[in-house]
Amino acid sequence: MDRYDRQIRFQGFSESGQENLSRATVMVMGAGALGTHVSELLTRMGAGKLITIDMDIVEMTNLHRQTLYTEEDVRLMKPKVEALKEELGQINSDVVIKTLNTELASNNIIGILKEHQPDIVIDAMDHFEIRFLINEACHKLGIPWVYGAAVGSKGSVYAIDFDGPCLKCLMDTMPASGESCEINGVLPPVITQTAGIEVSEAIRFLSGAGFSKKLITIDTFGMNYKTMNIDALKNDDCTVCGQHNYEHLEKETFRPVQSNCGRVFTLRFDDEIFEEELQGKIIKENRFVKFINYDGYDMTLFNDGRMNVYGLEGQEEAETLYLEIAGSLSANFHK
Ligand SMILES: [Zn+2]
Repeated sequence: MDRYDRQIRFQGFSESGQENLSRATVMVMGAGALGTHVSELLTRMGAGKLITIDMDIVEMTNLHRQTLYTEEDVRLMKPKVEALKEELGQINSDVVIKTLNTELASNNIIGILKEHQPDIVIDAMDHFEIRFLINEACHKLGIPWVYGAAVGSKGSVYAIDFDGPCLKCLMDTMPASGESCEINGVLPPVITQTAGIEVSEAIRFLSGAGFSKKLITIDTFGMNYKTMNIDALKNDDCTVCGQHNYEHLEKETFRPVQSNCGRVFTLRFDDEIFEEELQGKIIKENRFVKFINYDGYDMTLFNDGRMNVYGLEGQEEAETLYLEIAGSLSANFHK
């Protein structure tokens, strides 16, 4: 019997939905909590080609909510996309799995979308600002996308085909401080629910039923589920879908010293730093990442030059550290 028999028997999906899904290229942006769930479901369901993008390694604090990853992946400091690709390949060898171990930003998102030409993009990112970039890139290239976010016990999903309101129509001003999982925590069941709804929107679209055009919000602890028709919120003067003004695509996504949630800062150097002899002690390393203790700070240095530093008190301290490391590097380069 066909492995997809049970989903094909569902009339709304049927043979034709399966055929469309098996021809579709789906891009999942993020391989964290939402990304692992979405990628697993689409692989099991038999998507044609799945492209998943992420830049992080698997950490112990991920395991409670990020499916498929193991303690062994943590021990080996595996990039999430490497671990994910191995697992997905075991689940369904018919699906073409492509993974990109890279950080999405204004300078690469258009190139990535043009190269891989997804039929649909699924948002599985964990910070808010990047979603405005996805919104602009998808509008520019005419690619439908599914917004999904989960934090605490709450999740929301809204699928955007640009006939109705886009993300910018809905939230005209960027929230000054977004909630984050690191500060507010997150309950794993809300991830499963939010990811499930994102996949439902994706297969509705691919099977020809179209997006639900509803904003769906859930609270997995308060046990609430709400859907709202928000077509009326389409803003004809929207800078993105009305005026084609792509503010986020045009600006640098990253600064050299950037605060993440809590006391983690990301410092960005040239990727040559990965091969340099830095002061400090290397605790553990592989070809993707080094764990370093430097002057009392714990750091994770990635092979693209990104460095996450833990335990900094504030922006000023982070900038001082950045200048100190950058200074020692340029001294080395000029030796
Ligand atoms: Zn809009």
